[in-house]
Amino acid sequence: MECNRNCKTCASICENSCPICGTKGKKVSSVTVKSLIKGDFLFDENQDIYLCVNKKCSVAYYQENHPKCYYKEEVLVPIWFKEKYNQYMVCYCHQIYLNDIVELVQHIDEPNLTKKDVCKYLNKQHQEDCLHRNPLGTCCDTLFQNAITYAYKQKQEEK
Ligand SMILES: [Zn+2]
Repeated sequence: MECNRNCKTCASICENSCPICGTKGKKVSSVTVKSLIKGDFLFDENQDIYLCVNKKCSVAYYQENHPKCYYKEEVLVPIWFKEKYNQYMVCYCHQIYLNDIVELVQHIDEPNLTKKDVCKYLNKQHQEDCLHRNPLGTCCDTLFQNAITYAYKQKQEEK
C-alpha cells in the first residue's frame, strides 16, 4: 500500500505531516510565513515550512520536528478553507471574499466575468503580491475562477 502520509498507525516516520492532525501539508515559502504571522518568526530558517491543508485543523504553519507551530489565530489573514463561508477570502491581494463575487455576479447582467472584470467592478485593481499576502504564497487565479463558476451556479439555481 502506498503511503498517503495520512495514517495514524504507520510505523515509519512520516515527513511533512501536521503535528496535530497528521495531514500532509503544503510547502510554503518562509517569506510568506514571515509576512503573515502575528508574532516573531521562531522557525528554523534552514528547514521547510508547511501549511496544514486540513480544513478542520486549527494549525496553520509548522515544521517537522519543531516544537513551535503557528495556529490560524496567529496568522494575520483568515485561511479561507479553515473558516466559515463568510470568511472565504478568495483573493488576498485585493481582499475579495467569495461572497463579494457571488453578489457581483448576482447583480450584473454579464455572462462570462473574468477575474480581471471582477476586480474592475469591485474597484480593486492594485498590485498583486501573493507571496506576501496569500497564506499559501501562491496566486489565486484557479481559486478565483472556481469562485466565479460557483457564483454563476448559485445565480442559476435561484432563477
Ligand atoms: Zn493539521
